[in-house]
Amino acid sequence: MTTNYFKNYPSKEGYFEDYGGSFIPPQLQAEMEKITDAYFSISKSHNFISELRSIRKHYQGRPTPTYFCNRLSTKYGGRIYLKREDLNHTGAHKLNHCMGEALLAKYLGKKKLIAETGAGQHGVALATAAAYFGLECEIHMGEVDIIKEHPNVVRMKILGAKVVPVSFGLRTLKEAVDSAFGAYMQDFENSIYCIGSVVGPHPFPMMVRDFQRVVGIEAKEQFMEMTGELPDNVVACVGGGSNAMGIFSAFLEDSECKLFGVEPAGRSLDLGEHAATMTLGTPGIIHGFKCYLLQDEKGEPSPVYSVASGLDYPGVGPEHSMLKDLQKVSYVTANDKETIDAFYELSRLEGIIPALESAHAVAYALKLAKENPRQSILINLSGRGDKDVDYVMDTYGLPE
Ligand SMILES: *Cc1c(COP(=O)(O)O)cnc(C)c1O
Repeated sequence: MTTNYFKNYPSKEGYFEDYGGSFIPPQLQAEMEKITDAYFSISKSHNFISELRSIRKHYQGRPTPTYFCNRLSTKYGGRIYLKREDLNHTGAHKLNHCMGEALLAKYLGKKKLIAETGAGQHGVALATAAAYFGLECEIHMGEVDIIKEHPNVVRMKILGAKVVPVSFGLRTLKEAVDSAFGAYMQDFENSIYCIGSVVGPHPFPMMVRDFQRVVGIEAKEQFMEMTGELPDNVVACVGGGSNAMGIFSAFLEDSECKLFGVEPAGRSLDLGEHAATMTLGTPGIIHGFKCYLLQDEKGEPSPVYSVASGLDYPGVGPEHSMLKDLQKVSYVTANDKETIDAFYELSRLEGIIPALESAHAVAYALKLAKENPRQSILINLSGRGDKDVDYVMDTYGLPE
């Protein structure tokens, strides 16, 4: 079934049932078709595959480990495991698709990588890939996030990227995408837009998913080797949905594994206080594709908020939108408070400081563990929390 699944989704036009597609100006559409064709021929070539494999092993440090949380499991029940994407080079899963996208850019003869960033993780990962391949790099980032995620801004600059501050709207992730898209439209012949998640027009949701599949393939093999069985539950946070697609993709055919995508419930489920797209959104179009969307009556994206900058996006990947309708994945939420509690629990019980994004997945997993003490839970720990420590201390302080 997996083979068929990946053959069927997305369709040739980039649809995951009703979602996805490509809603963009005609000249950009032609460019997207070029990228799609190139992706299908180049990414299946022996040279591309062996170069990417070698990069993953010798440069990124893959495979990342799967780790059993002894103290956390003792306290909360269940058997809790982490797929340690925080140990991937640059500290998050995003380098997996950035190295793939940049390698494709190299094969296409592009000179410049353009992207948006929210928490700064995608910007850092892409600036890293650009440095590795000797490409120019331009990263668009909302001014609010520039202040909040200062260490990542510094890292991007050290890596040689140009950081473009975005000063309109809410000055966070959605506006950064708008701004980066605009820059790309001006110069799509020499540059390539390296989107930061499984979102955007076809072929990006497919390419990013395919580059992230390594997470699920490794995690499944490691988990089976450690336990002799499949996990009962797989949990990942969902912003755009790339780390979640990465790990879920290996378990879609295993009906005995329950899959949970965790969205940010923020301060409350009132308008503008969360980014729970799957829970409260309705189908709509954003950034050139169709998905569940938090929107007003006119179809304009609603303001969103999360304590984790990497999750505050009003849309979500088209494949997740389909998986929700097919009821293959349950989409649930964790709020800011549960997330901060989980951030400290993982830090103090396991010595692992998680990214605030990943702490959403941990927060939900802790609830699951309490309710199902005999079950195993595999969490995709999408990134490390170094970038968040000052913000958490200044805003919340140490726990009592
Ligand atoms: C960007 C980011 C996310 C959210 O992006 P997805 O595409 O939903 O995975 C989650 N965790 C970390 C650590 C991130 O940097």
